[in-house]
Amino acid sequence: MLMKRVTVVGAGYVGLTTGAVLAYVGHRVTVVDLDQARVEGLKAGKVPFVEPYLEEIMGLSQGRLAFTFRYEEAIPEAEVVFVAVGTPPGPDGAPDLSQVRSAAQGIGQHLGSGFTVVVNKSTVPVGSGNYVEALVRRAYWEVYGEEPRSFAVASNPEFLREGQAVYDSLYPDRIVVGAEDRRALEVLRELYEPILEQSFPAPPFLPRPERMGAVPFITTDLASAELIKYGANAFLAMKISFINELAALAERVGADIREVARGIGLDSRIGPRFLQAGLGWGGSCFPKDTLALVAMGREYGVSMPLVEATREVNALQRQRVVEKLLSELKTLKGRTIALLGLAFKPHTDDLRESPALELAALLVERGAFVRAHDPVAIPRAQREVSLALEYAETPEALFRGADAVVLATDWPEYRMWPWEHLKGLLRTPLVVDARNHLDRDRLVAAGYRYLGIGVPSLGVLNKEGIPGTG
Ligand code: NAD
Repeated sequence: MLMKRVTVVGAGYVGLTTGAVLAYVGHRVTVVDLDQARVEGLKAGKVPFVEPYLEEIMGLSQGRLAFTFRYEEAIPEAEVVFVAVGTPPGPDGAPDLSQVRSAAQGIGQHLGSGFTVVVNKSTVPVGSGNYVEALVRRAYWEVYGEEPRSFAVASNPEFLREGQAVYDSLYPDRIVVGAEDRRALEVLRELYEPILEQSFPAPPFLPRPERMGAVPFITTDLASAELIKYGANAFLAMKISFINELAALAERVGADIREVARGIGLDSRIGPRFLQAGLGWGGSCFPKDTLALVAMGREYGVSMPLVEATREVNALQRQRVVEKLLSELKTLKGRTIALLGLAFKPHTDDLRESPALELAALLVERGAFVRAHDPVAIPRAQREVSLALEYAETPEALFRGADAVVLATDWPEYRMWPWEHLKGLLRTPLVVDARNHLDRDRLVAAGYRYLGIGVPSLGVLNKEGIPGTG
């Protein structure tokens, strides 16, 4: 393997994971981030967010991973520079590219004399590769008064899932690279060789999956690579919205959406994943990427009705849970709702566009008190969430005096909670399992009224709010 000198701009979920994994497989990596406190923490081995195994893989990089907030220390010697900064949604739906712009300018101002590949890993609209190239070129010109001699821009969209970011980076389904310059494609093929050929020793905590073969390396043009990322995310979001739409019908006709999804998903043309009915999708990618795709369509005069409907169905899903609570409790004013989960999915403390928080906001709007639990995200929620929420660190504190329990994030540990024992703490033993995650039969046997998404409701509350048999 040819060791490369790599710089990653942006020490977020994507940048830090990419940097740590590339260092682990043998490259020399510098991660540059403008947030000095973050950089100081990283130098001391502190990961600034919850991501399983990231700290461990950083620990195994054996001195090949460095951190700085100075571009001048990170850029001139690099052969490959990844841009992995944030691209949050702007006011019109198109991504705000200000972080990308500032990163590209910083790179251009410090570009060295050797051939450098500048790689867009941030999710950016089609055409951003060209934009970044122009920004690098202009910034270089402003400093040196001449054209940069030797650099090329590539797009290398990222498909990792938060909560499984290290696993996904070590064992990806595919690696996509787009560039107009053949040398850039070759440099990136060499860079990814240990992952493409799976020639690195698997870390003990993340063994290589059985039947893991060589990883497909898709080389294409810049625009196609950029569109692949949006296409993949919009399709996954659409799959979830589709099953949620069907779940609403399943409830009306008395079908069980889990059975329906199994029957559909075993068709190999469809596949079983992302067919779980629930509260809908959220997080830092699907909402902004579907929005960006619609905005891109608008820019080019192409309507995107499927993507728009995917978003509408998703928004309805939060509302459906509110309606379920209303149908049982009649009013939400003054009710205390115990919310299981704050993060947008388990194994992360990322709260960006979390369905749990969107649901909490709807409940608060209706006059309810929302008391929330999350295994890891409470400290971050206390810092970042302005909504008036109460927080509970223990199941007992969460359940005491609550009128209903709503599961919003499918943390595995919620299945293990002592539901039988906790029931007595509730004013009404009502559970809305908005991820179809809990053991319904166990809860009903313990005397709960159970409502899921697209599944028959079980257990009946009598006038006093106590489940009976009728
Ligand atoms: P993030 O917000 O977690 O991290 C961005 C980092 O970049 C921050 O640490 C910030 O301080 C730093 N930064 C901002 N401007 C900078 C600059 N000019 N120079 C240096 N550092 C700078 O972002 P993220 O979640 O890692 O996402 C990064 C990109 O990857 C986005 O475009 C996102 O859409 C895409 N993506 C994210 C995921 C995911 O699961 N989070 C998955 C695939 C793709």
